[in-house]
Amino acid sequence: MKNTNEMELLFDSKSVNEGFARVAVAAFMTQLNPTLEEVADVKTAVSEAVTNAIIHGYEKEIDKIRIHCRLEEQVLYIEIEDKGKGIENVEQAMQPLFTTKPELERSGMGFSFMEAFMDEISVESELGRGTLVKMQKEIGKGRELWITQSL
Ligand code: ATP
Ligand code: MG
Repeated sequence: MKNTNEMELLFDSKSVNEGFARVAVAAFMTQLNPTLEEVADVKTAVSEAVTNAIIHGYEKEIDKIRIHCRLEEQVLYIEIEDKGKGIENVEQAMQPLFTTKPELERSGMGFSFMEAFMDEISVESELGRGTLVKMQKEIGKGRELWITQSL
């Protein structure tokens, strides 16, 4: 049987909670013995997705953001969901440098960072219904091989 572990967080879309969410996910993943770099990658990806939910999903409203994390062996699966305004064109939104808020000095790089720092990312969104970002990352990829070879 596969070794799994799950947790869920529900919190208000306030920017003070962005740091909380990122640290909570980082704490949860420590059981996989990640490197500092792997933790930093996941924190960045979570931070980008949560910031998007706060700024774009709910704009000035305060509502709930849900994070669900699941570990399956060495793979960390993360879902970040808001019930906010949704994305009109997901493909376009995921292009590097695309932003609908240039006036807020957003650079349009959030999704690109998530793609760069995680193994997989997929985005489901519907206008008026909200957005679900799913990401996954294998922790310790290639490390076991390296240890065996160095013995
Ligand atoms: P940056 O992340 O660099 O500050 P950004 O947030 O505009 O800038 P991305 O994170 O790549 O860039 O997101 C691209 C666009 O996708 C956003 O400008 C916004 O229009 C849309 N978007 C992203 N996440 C959501 C969301 N949760 N709800 C609604 N729209 C979103
Ligand atoms: Mg962003």
